[in-house]
Amino acid sequence: MSATIIDGKAYAAGLRGRVAGAVADLSRDGVVPGLAVVLAGSDPASQIYVRNKARQTVEVGMESFEHLLPATASEAEVLALVARLNADPAVDGILVQLPLPAQIDSQKVIEAIDPGKDVDGFHPINAGRLMTGVPGFVSCTPLGCLLLIRSVRPDLAGLDAVVIGRSNIVGKPMAQLLLGQSCTVTVAHSRTRDLEAVCRRADILVAAVGRPDMVRGDWIKPGAIVIDVGINRVPNPQAGEGKTRVVGDVAFAEAAAVAGAITPVPGGVGPMTIACLLRNTLQAACQRRGLPMPALDAA
Ligand code: NDP
Repeated sequence: MSATIIDGKAYAAGLRGRVAGAVADLSRDGVVPGLAVVLAGSDPASQIYVRNKARQTVEVGMESFEHLLPATASEAEVLALVARLNADPAVDGILVQLPLPAQIDSQKVIEAIDPGKDVDGFHPINAGRLMTGVPGFVSCTPLGCLLLIRSVRPDLAGLDAVVIGRSNIVGKPMAQLLLGQSCTVTVAHSRTRDLEAVCRRADILVAAVGRPDMVRGDWIKPGAIVIDVGINRVPNPQAGEGKTRVVGDVAFAEAAAVAGAITPVPGGVGPMTIACLLRNTLQAACQRRGLPMPALDAA
């Protein structure tokens, strides 16, 4: 194995520590940033995410407001709650956990969030700001990926970047961020022809697909930076019947033999998402009070 393993868990812990330091500074002026999380329904994975978000929010010294609604909650109820949170001065950031139950139009809910409190960066205003190069909130997972990429290579100008996946949550904002770093960006998806050949051109390869071990070692350009966003649960018979384990979209051992640097799954991109959410909440708290955003993102 030749690649540097990018330790997202350690980077995320460092970032959370820097956020906590900035929050402690703010608290001396009586400012306590607040993050509200809305969960509708009882999806077990979403419940775990929400619990982890709440715990880490409190750990960095922020206030956490959890709003748990039943799976039967109506769209009107969720919109009314978002309106209350928009108006609540103690709330700096609002996160609505997706997916929402089928009777609720997620896009309508996202668009109801005050763009100044949209710490997930999903509101079209923030997506548009990213696209036009204006400061705003950037989606947490792609922001985390960029921080990890820059932790091993600070200057990305001129590099060929390939992003596999074009979701609004990961693929598209990732492509915009890399373009903002002056990479030459290709966005691949399920209709891309000869994906392997496209990937082989990449100095930076970001896989955000949701297909276990799809990207093979021989798809990787020697020395490339490989970022694996995928979270896929697969059977793990060695651990016992019915047991599962989490793997990424990249066949890790094969890819690590060729890449220059690579994120593992778990312990790569995953921990960065909540750390970036806390970073964005701090940004929201500073912005709403006209305070400068502390510098946090140094590797
Ligand atoms: P989506 O399902 O919204 O998007 C998947 C993308 O992959 C689509 O653009 C799709 O193309 C593309 N795709 C599907 N099959 C292929 C294929 N065979 N070849 C090339 N492209 C393909 O997923 P998300 O973007 O929300 O998430 C992607 C992965 O990242 C998932 O595993 C998810 O669990 C994980 N994730 C991890 C996070 C974290 O680490 N914290 C946060 C968010 C997501 P098309 O558009 O043509 O259908």
